Amino acid sequence: MSVVTKCIGVAKKVKHRFDAQIKARTPVYVSPVRRIERVKTDERVVAMTFDDGPCRMLPNPRGEHGKGLTMELVDILEKYGAKGTFDVVGSTAANYPDEAGKEGSASWGGKKYDHYPDIGHDAEGGAEVCREEIDRILSGGHEITSHTYAHVLYGPKNVVYGSRKYLGDLEKAVSDLEKLHTLMKERHGYTIRLSRPPHYVDKIAPGLTSYDALALMGYQYMGASFDGAGWLPLSTYEAEVEATWRPLEKALSEDPDSLKGQIIFQKDGFNMARRTPIADGLEKQLELLSDAGYKVVTVSELMERSPFADLGPGDDAFKAARKLLGKRCCPAYRDNTVRPEAVMTVGELCETVFGWEAAKKRVERITQKAGPWPCGLSVDHPYGAAVQLAMEMGCLERTPRFDPAAPLTAEILTAFLHPIFGRTPEIPSKLNRGEVLKTLAQIL
Ligand SMILES: [Zn+2]
Repeated sequence: MSVVTKCIGVAKKVKHRFDAQIKARTPVYVSPVRRIERVKTDERVVAMTFDDGPCRMLPNPRGEHGKGLTMELVDILEKYGAKGTFDVVGSTAANYPDEAGKEGSASWGGKKYDHYPDIGHDAEGGAEVCREEIDRILSGGHEITSHTYAHVLYGPKNVVYGSRKYLGDLEKAVSDLEKLHTLMKERHGYTIRLSRPPHYVDKIAPGLTSYDALALMGYQYMGASFDGAGWLPLSTYEAEVEATWRPLEKALSEDPDSLKGQIIFQKDGFNMARRTPIADGLEKQLELLSDAGYKVVTVSELMERSPFADLGPGDDAFKAARKLLGKRCCPAYRDNTVRPEAVMTVGELCETVFGWEAAKKRVERITQKAGPWPCGLSVDHPYGAAVQLAMEMGCLERTPRFDPAAPLTAEILTAFLHPIFGRTPEIPSKLNRGEVLKTLAQIL
């Protein structure tokens, strides 16, 4: 094992342990916005997301073709019949006054803000000025997703970005997303459906997160499950290039199926050492994937295989859960699992049926500081608005002491569905999540 691989390995292990601890402490709720990190599929398919572009600047040190980085990456992808997902910004040109931080650190491209492709070079990147690049991406059948217009943090991130400016306001976050959405729609006739918050910072304001902003936009949250290391600064360019493909080679040699359904995090821009190892690493990554029989597709194509992390086309409740998504229901948890064997709770039933409709009401109540819901749930409870809607629709008995975690019973389900459908469907004998979703899919 090379020193590079070892260093990345240790850093990633520490990060994974930290992430796992946070995950274990975080309760999971059914949600209209799901975080898509990987999906369950039996096919050897992966997606690659390229953050922070488009970028017109030449790759560094490999600028000999005289072609900007984004154009170079699209050409390489197409040489291998691969489709990329370009997680673009609109423009970082307004992110001033600012100055560059220490080379090789997280603030290399700005102390107060991010600047793409680089500080002082904001006019050489972003969808606003890179019209040709966006057209080229779209004509090649690649996907565009929203990495926000200005790439300003939604909320504070003290550990790494203590001196960073942040929006701290849901309305600002949404209007920033709308700006890029409108640009793509009006100029390119393209509708964005997925978004990744800058640096994955989710907390915006008390009770409000990036999931609320994405719900108001009708987007899904785009995560990633495998790091392509395009951001990583190392002692030499060669080491950086190696870091982009070595972990992929290792994963494929240990288990050639391990990449199925994963999203690989890539960079359409400079790393912290102002180099672009992706320009040389991508070709090697694509070779490895193609040798192992993998097809590289867009994130949306990956989600056509399966939209969920734990259910694929071969699983029992898959069809029902997918049909419900198409009906604007919320059959999955925020972490994109369906968990068909788990007990369905009454709160989950409300959110599954009314989650999208309730998203705006939820935000209004929190921003207007309107106090607890009449059902007794706190103002920012994820199911508060959906439960209230269910009560207003006559699906649930009105009570000021509602328990969202109570397991669903046949009586509650029958009473819940009657006002919506005007009749009582057949209630399954086992009321786990999978069976309840199948019942809902039959009648919705
Ligand atoms: Zn970014």
